[in-house]
Amino acid sequence: MAGKNIVLFGPPGAGKGTQAVKLKDLLSIPHVSTGDMFRYHIKNSTQLGLTAKEYSNKGQLVPDEVTIAMVKDRLSQPDMKNGFLLDGFPRSVPQAEALDKILTELNMKLDHVVNISVSDDQIRARLAKRASIEGRADDADPKVIQNRIDTYKSQSEPCLAYYRPKGIVHDIDGIGAIDEVFERISSLF
Ligand code: AMP
Repeated sequence: MAGKNIVLFGPPGAGKGTQAVKLKDLLSIPHVSTGDMFRYHIKNSTQLGLTAKEYSNKGQLVPDEVTIAMVKDRLSQPDMKNGFLLDGFPRSVPQAEALDKILTELNMKLDHVVNISVSDDQIRARLAKRASIEGRADDADPKVIQNRIDTYKSQSEPCLAYYRPKGIVHDIDGIGAIDEVFERISSLF
């Protein structure tokens, strides 16, 4: 399929990060994860990190003005020219609109939205497992997990309705072994 400007979409715990690493290797494109970018800033206690921590610790979205500026800066860099894999952005319709605007300004467009779907129960089970393996603060507390699921449903999921009429959404069943899910995703490209 032509074009490698890709958004990897799905609820927290869908396996986006794991699949992104495999897909960026297959397609030889940079992986841009807003969650990873925020975690880097939090770890290094930058000003941006201090802001991000306030929100991510509660399972809430970091404000758009911070997030969109960070993504714009990254997408403006020269290594994006042959494609990119966005993971964790957009997470709201205003962010999806902002992404279109950024890409238009850069003379680019979005080619694919790969939507990895998993059930709520599966999300909870996976986040609990990740908390014990990776020690991520935002995966450990059931209240924070529920907040992240609620935030996904109310703010992020509507992005799909934004993208569907454009004919660029590919729905992928996220249940199964990592390699099985990757097989489904890679067969798109
Ligand atoms: P993730 O690793 O993608 O689950 O992101 C971890 C946390 O970073 C999220 O719970 C949010 O607090 C924050 N975050 C990541 N991406 C975004 C985004 N696009 N908009 C706002 N906040 C974000």
